[in-house]
Amino acid sequence: MHYAFSPAPVTSVPIAGTEARFPVHRVYCVGRNYEEHAKEMGFTGREPPFFFLKPADAVLVVPAGETGQMPYPSLTGNLHHEIELVVAIGKGGRNIRAADALSHIFGYAVGLDMTRRDLQNDMKKQGRPWCIGKAFDHSAPIGPITPAAELSAPEASAIWLQVNGTDRQRSQVSQLIWNIAETIEHCSAAWELAPGDLIYTGTPEGVGAVVRGDLLEGGIDGLGTLRLQIA
Ligand code: MN
Repeated sequence: MHYAFSPAPVTSVPIAGTEARFPVHRVYCVGRNYEEHAKEMGFTGREPPFFFLKPADAVLVVPAGETGQMPYPSLTGNLHHEIELVVAIGKGGRNIRAADALSHIFGYAVGLDMTRRDLQNDMKKQGRPWCIGKAFDHSAPIGPITPAAELSAPEASAIWLQVNGTDRQRSQVSQLIWNIAETIEHCSAAWELAPGDLIYTGTPEGVGAVVRGDLLEGGIDGLGTLRLQIA
C-alpha cells in the first residue's frame, strides 16, 4: 500500500519542560461556558454544555517566548478574540464520570478561540452550522502545554486578555459554568475522547474585535502568556 500523495503532517504542540510534543487528535470547543459571556451573547441561565469542533490543523502553535502571527482571515469584518483555558487529554475514554475526569488530563494551555463573529451570527440567524464562523484556518492559537502534575489548581487561576496593552477580558477560571471535570463528562458522552484531544473550555466576558496589526497577549496563572499578532 502507498498513499497517492503525502499525508498531511501531524499538528503538535510543545510541552513545557520537555522536548516531547503533544500530537493533536481533535479540537473540541465549549460554547457559552461563563455566565457573563453568555449574557453578553444574549443568553441567560444554565444550559447543558454544547460543543463544536475545529480541525486539528486549525491549531496555530505559538512556542514559548514567541509572538505568533495570525493572518487576518477571509470573508470577515469582525474577527473576535476569545481567551480560553485549553485542556489537553492524555488518556481517552467514553462516558467518563466527572469524578474520574482529572486522571484523563495530560495538561493545560492558554488558547484563543478566534471567531469570525459576523459569519457566526449569520449562521445562527439562519439555523446553519457555525463552521464558517469558528472552524477556519489558524482559528485556534495555543501556547505550550503545561503537564497537569506541574499545575495544582487551574480552576483557581485568573484568565485575562489584553489587546495592545489594554484589558479586554479578565476573569477567573472558577467562573466556568461547567467546570473542567463536568465538561469532560459531557464531551465524552457525545464522543469517545482520545489521547491528543484538546478541549477549549469557553471564554469569559469581554470578547471583541481585533484588526490587522493588533497585538494580543493573554494568560492564565501558572500557564504563562500567549502572544499573537494579527497580520
Ligand atoms: Mn469560545
